Amino acid sequence: MKLVVASNNAGKLREFGALLAPLGWETVPQSELGVPECAEPHHTFIENALEKARHAARCSGLPALADDSGLCVHALGGAPGVYSARYAGEPKSDARNNQKLVADLAGHADRRAHYVCVLVFVRHADDPQPIIAEGEWHGEIIDEARGGGGFGYDPYFFLPELGVTAAELDATEKNRRSHRGLALQHLVERLQTRR
Ligand code: IMP
Repeated sequence: MKLVVASNNAGKLREFGALLAPLGWETVPQSELGVPECAEPHHTFIENALEKARHAARCSGLPALADDSGLCVHALGGAPGVYSARYAGEPKSDARNNQKLVADLAGHADRRAHYVCVLVFVRHADDPQPIIAEGEWHGEIIDEARGGGGFGYDPYFFLPELGVTAAELDATEKNRRSHRGLALQHLVERLQTRR
């Protein structure tokens, strides 16, 4: 069974492929099928992920999997949220996003933050019953970068129970704990038990 993945991120494609292969799903990146990037105009992760999944299914004629993710900071009312990739504007830059995040949190004692990942699977573009899975990963934002792994906000995302940032974890450890890893585990459980 073939499944189109609505992402062009090599790391995500690898992760999705590895977890879905044991279920008999062959994953194909949307770029290989000529599916153009889809707009992400909504204010919530779920709406954006659903739009991306339906778009990929409509353009390819295959079942589709899409994700939307971001960082939600408590003291900033959940920002940058769905705007995480472009928090500091265009062109998107992790370095400028992190600089803005640290500046916006200056003077705030509450450093709590969590990553969110929402995954949506549709059997076809008009599927009335998409499978939706969500994962959260909780931590705190620190002022100085630590670690060279991961991407995005990881060097500033500190995990108090481990005493390290997400950028100090190796890829396997991050996948096991992260919002994306957890959402994928939930999705796989749902796919396995669906009649
Ligand atoms: P997207 O879901 O690939 O569009 O990711 C949205 C944005 O959220 C990314 O560009 C990052 O800024 C942030 N983000 C999502 N997941 C992670 C993560 O695991 N580590 C660091 N940043 C992340």
